[in-house]
Amino acid sequence: MSDSLSSAAASIPATSLCVYCGTNVGSSPSYVAAATALGAEMAERRIGLVYSGGRLGLMGAVADAVLAGGGHVAGIIPQSLVRAELAHPGLSSLEVADSMHTRKARMAELADGFIALAGGFGTFEELLEVLTWNQLGFIRKPVVLFDVDGFYAPLIQMFDTAVEAGFVRADHAALAQRGTTVDDVLALATAPAPSTPHKWIDLDQGLQGT
Ligand code: AMP
Repeated sequence: MSDSLSSAAASIPATSLCVYCGTNVGSSPSYVAAATALGAEMAERRIGLVYSGGRLGLMGAVADAVLAGGGHVAGIIPQSLVRAELAHPGLSSLEVADSMHTRKARMAELADGFIALAGGFGTFEELLEVLTWNQLGFIRKPVVLFDVDGFYAPLIQMFDTAVEAGFVRADHAALAQRGTTVDDVLALATAPAPSTPHKWIDLDQGLQGT
């Protein structure tokens, strides 16, 4: 499945959070500032970071901040991206997964909760995947959008649109919790995930299979 490339001295923390974020830094310094503040506070609280293992963009910024604070960082990178995303050389551990799917499953396995900082398609895809896994009951782990300068407002609006249109339960839209400060985000990501009913709205209305 995956090979452990390196293993440093930092002991594995009791709580680990997976942070999804862009391989670019974005157009506003607010995004790097948020990534750095989040990483520093995770180290301070002895919360381990699980992330995609690269040193580019916001990914590198959050990892560097955790490491600078003496925290534990586990990177999981697919073999195909070791060069493209420049695997971070200073992590507590770095696993090379045989595929993107293996990588994402491993990140979800290691983490107790998920935080999405600003990012692009890769970040959205990872965020939506763990939301759907929660919705289906495959996992029950908190998912938090770190909403810097309203970055996630349009996506949250899209979730509300899907609720109004009858495709998503309001309870499931609420799985995407939102925080605007490091304290709020960490409080939500380390609390139990909201409990939810099953996914299939039509079953409740007797419409399925008729
Ligand atoms: P991005 O937000 O597009 O800068 O990508 C952030 C991270 O998402 C990168 O580490 C990508 O490797 C990862 N990622 C995960 N799944 C995908 C996917 N299906 N397409 C692109 N990137 C992905």
